Amino acid sequence: MRYLVISDIHSNLEALEAVLEDASGQYDEIWCLGDLVGYGPNPNECVDKVRELPLACVAGNHDWAALGKLSLDDFNPDAQEASRWTQENLNGITRAYLESLPETLVIEDKITLVHGSPRHPIWEYIISIPIALENFSYFETPWCLVGHSHVPVIFRYCEAEGGTGNCEAFIPPVNQPILLTPGERFIINPGSVGQPRDGDPRASYMFIEPEKGIIEYRRVDYPVEKTQAKMKEVGLPPRLIARLSFGW
Ligand code: ZN
Repeated sequence: MRYLVISDIHSNLEALEAVLEDASGQYDEIWCLGDLVGYGPNPNECVDKVRELPLACVAGNHDWAALGKLSLDDFNPDAQEASRWTQENLNGITRAYLESLPETLVIEDKITLVHGSPRHPIWEYIISIPIALENFSYFETPWCLVGHSHVPVIFRYCEAEGGTGNCEAFIPPVNQPILLTPGERFIINPGSVGQPRDGDPRASYMFIEPEKGIIEYRRVDYPVEKTQAKMKEVGLPPRLIARLSFGW
C-alpha cells in the first residue's frame, strides 16, 4: 500500500487541490495529521473535500480551537483572530466532522498518527532533538507521523549500547525515495499543505510505503495569490496573508 500523507491544510483550498491533483493516481489511501482549519479562508470547503476522500485523520490544535475545545489564550493575536473568524464561519457538517476526529490513531501496530507529538498529541511541537528523543518513549510503533511545526523533518532514534538512546534529525530531500532502515524508529513530519514555514511557499506533502520502508517528499506550486485575495476579502489578518508568499 502507498499512502499520501498530508498535514496542516489550514483552510487553504487552493493548496489542498494542488496537492490532490499532483498526487492523483499515485496512492491507495490518505493519512491526514490535523489542522484542517484555522488561518485560511475556506474551512468548510476544505473539510467537504477531505470528507469525500479515502482518509484517516487526527485532530489538531486549530481544529479544537475552532470547536471552542481549547482556550485561545496561548495563540498569538493573529492566530486568535483567525480562530475566532473560523469559529463564526464553520457550518454544522464541518463542526460534526471536526468533533469526530481522534487525538491519536495507530495503524496496524506499525504507525502512530498524531498532530503534535505522541506525548501531547494536540499541543506539543517536536522542533528539537531533545524533544524528539523524549517522545520516542511515548509510542510503541516503529514510526510516528507528526505535523504541527509545518516543517518537513525526519528524526531517527539511534540505539546506544547499554544505555539511553540518541537521536538525530535530517531535512529530507524532495522528489527522491528515502529508504528508512528496517528495525529503526522514526518520527516523520511531512510539512504543511496550506501554510509551509520552511522558507519554501510551495505546498508540502509526502508518500509513504510502510512495507517497503520508503518515503518520498514532494512540493507543489499553487495559486497563492488566489488564497491571499480570498483572505483579504473576508478580513483575515494581513500578516497571515503575507506569510504565504514566503513560506514562514
Ligand atoms: Zn498547524
